[in-house]
Amino acid sequence: MGLLLFSGFNPEKKRDNPFFTEYKTPFQVPPFDKIDTADYMPAFMEGIRQHNAEIDAIVGNPAQPDFANTILAYDKSGKLLTKVSKVFYNLNEAETNKQLQAIARQLSPVMSKHGDDIALNEKLFARIKLVYEKRKAMKLDDQQLRVVEKYFRDFERQGANLSPEKKDKLRKLNEDLSMLALTFGENLLAETNENFKLVITDKKDLEGLPQGVVDGAAETAKEKGITGSWVFTLSKPSMIPFLQYAKNRELREQIYRGYFMRGNNGNKNDNKETISKIVKLRVEKAKLLGFDSYAAYIVDENMAKTPAKVDDFLAKLWTAALPVAKKEVVEMQKIIDREGGKFKLQPWDWWYYAEIIHKEKYSLDENELKPYFSLSNVRDGMFLVANKLYGISFTKRTDLPVFQKDVETYEVKEADGRHLGVLYLDYYPRDGKRGGAWCTDFQASGWENGKKIDPIVSVTCNFTKPTADTPSLLSWDETTTLFHEFGHALHGLFTEGKYTRTAGNVPQDYVEMPSQINENWAGEPKVLKAYAKHYKTGAPIPDDLIAKIQNSALFNQGFETIEYLAASILDMDYHEITDVKDVDVLKFESDAMNKIGLISEIIPRYRTTYFAHIFGGGYAAGYYVYIWAAVLDADAFDAFKSSGDIYNQALAAKFRKYCLAESGDDEGMTQYRKFRGQEPSIDPLLKRRGLK
Ligand SMILES: [Zn+2]
Repeated sequence: MGLLLFSGFNPEKKRDNPFFTEYKTPFQVPPFDKIDTADYMPAFMEGIRQHNAEIDAIVGNPAQPDFANTILAYDKSGKLLTKVSKVFYNLNEAETNKQLQAIARQLSPVMSKHGDDIALNEKLFARIKLVYEKRKAMKLDDQQLRVVEKYFRDFERQGANLSPEKKDKLRKLNEDLSMLALTFGENLLAETNENFKLVITDKKDLEGLPQGVVDGAAETAKEKGITGSWVFTLSKPSMIPFLQYAKNRELREQIYRGYFMRGNNGNKNDNKETISKIVKLRVEKAKLLGFDSYAAYIVDENMAKTPAKVDDFLAKLWTAALPVAKKEVVEMQKIIDREGGKFKLQPWDWWYYAEIIHKEKYSLDENELKPYFSLSNVRDGMFLVANKLYGISFTKRTDLPVFQKDVETYEVKEADGRHLGVLYLDYYPRDGKRGGAWCTDFQASGWENGKKIDPIVSVTCNFTKPTADTPSLLSWDETTTLFHEFGHALHGLFTEGKYTRTAGNVPQDYVEMPSQINENWAGEPKVLKAYAKHYKTGAPIPDDLIAKIQNSALFNQGFETIEYLAASILDMDYHEITDVKDVDVLKFESDAMNKIGLISEIIPRYRTTYFAHIFGGGYAAGYYVYIWAAVLDADAFDAFKSSGDIYNQALAAKFRKYCLAESGDDEGMTQYRKFRGQEPSIDPLLKRRGLK
């Protein structure tokens, strides 16, 4: 182990480890050009050692626990560990290699043990509890009170306040639950990748499929060693185009059945029993921690606060969206009848007829659009919007070290020229970068010894690369993605809280609001005219294309909303169970769907036996958060729209202050109300999706 850790590190020639001193770069950005792979492990080990020493000092302090010697000391602990973690884990996502991956694997058990050591440190919790119990008498300000309460709740939610026997029980439950989640995931993987594939040997069965899809299927066949055929799998990029374009209806049914029966085939990968156990153990865990149901335990931390509030919210959206989905069914049935098909629309037909409607009603050709969305124009457009809203400006820097040569760096300044932070923009895919788009930071905004620490944020994407004669031209989806991630970046740049625990720290059903609201500006006609200019001629985007962009937002929204809501409601139903009992999951699912009147042409986006978000991942009683955040962002943007000025300065100032800068200072809904003057309404989202 040691050999690998220190490979490339020659103790004879001692060099300075850049993590051990203050960065000497402008704005103290990480000195990427000076960091060697061999610097990480020693910095992590020293970081853990220092963190442990800091915790020991808090615990061993002979003075009575108070805010400064316990809460604040804990809040500010682990500085070196955070410093090296920020660089290492971000690069392991954006610019990794075999060595970084090996270090990550070695670190995984070390870091989780370190986390557990702190979470289970009884003496530390005893001090935090003492401060918590006396907090009202301690003359703390609102922020200090909140930090005390947050830390106390964190420990309590992990069981620190339980009796030794109950702690043992909780540990056992957690172990069982994580094993069951693993089993669920392994079964699902086998059911998705191994237990089904659609092998086509007759060219006739490819009718309707675009050439690119056919080529992809031939490629898949080659990978699987099934020569002379075309193979489609249950992964969405393979299955969805087949459902969209394949004329052969029986084959559409075959592949979709393969998909929605995953985990429910009565074979060794069947997930039903595993899920029944998960649901039961979660109720037990919730009860142990003082909650009626697992949903109550989870949602308690969120903006929504109670499962009843989530249920009520989902029910309202359901009522609005169901008639629209029913209308979509009628529209599709008309096409079937028109074409002389003598059958009733089924779930495996939906994508096929939706695609026909898409072409007939919403003809939006990406290739017509793309020349207006060169990457540099889109970037300047999002900078312009931020400037008009918040007065901030972006100055390109060429003197800051970068972790990869194509990465751009900007200094972000306030309207009065004061330094606000640094922004990294990393656009293109490459080996060593994972897929998707995300926003992260190398330095979170914070305070130390009464001095503000300025944020260093980074946006990472995987956009279409430029070619020798064409700049990077973005699709509409990529354009809104850049605005989205930049919304997260603004949240990070504007954050002002004094304490690590609370600064910018928002619940799961709040986190996507600052990003999603920013997407709204991208599609505003006035904004489009300003930035969407043809990369060759400089001509602004024509009105008919703007109309098409806006119109396409209404496509298939009944289906999209209902399919998603059905899964969200199923998630809540499972986690609102209050009895510790076995569940017949098929009956449970069908009862739940009958209760809300789901139509037979649509099945939930995830059925029970392959609902990985809630049974394999961290979204139990939380699948609703996506549409919750969408309601928030639509409602927040509506404030600007209905004021008649999308750059309304008074609103922008309030939004920045309450929803971004001070976002973690109080409960999410309280902060939102300070901005909006009321709780969010679902109407703006319904309007945006054409559901009202
Ligand atoms: Zn996001």
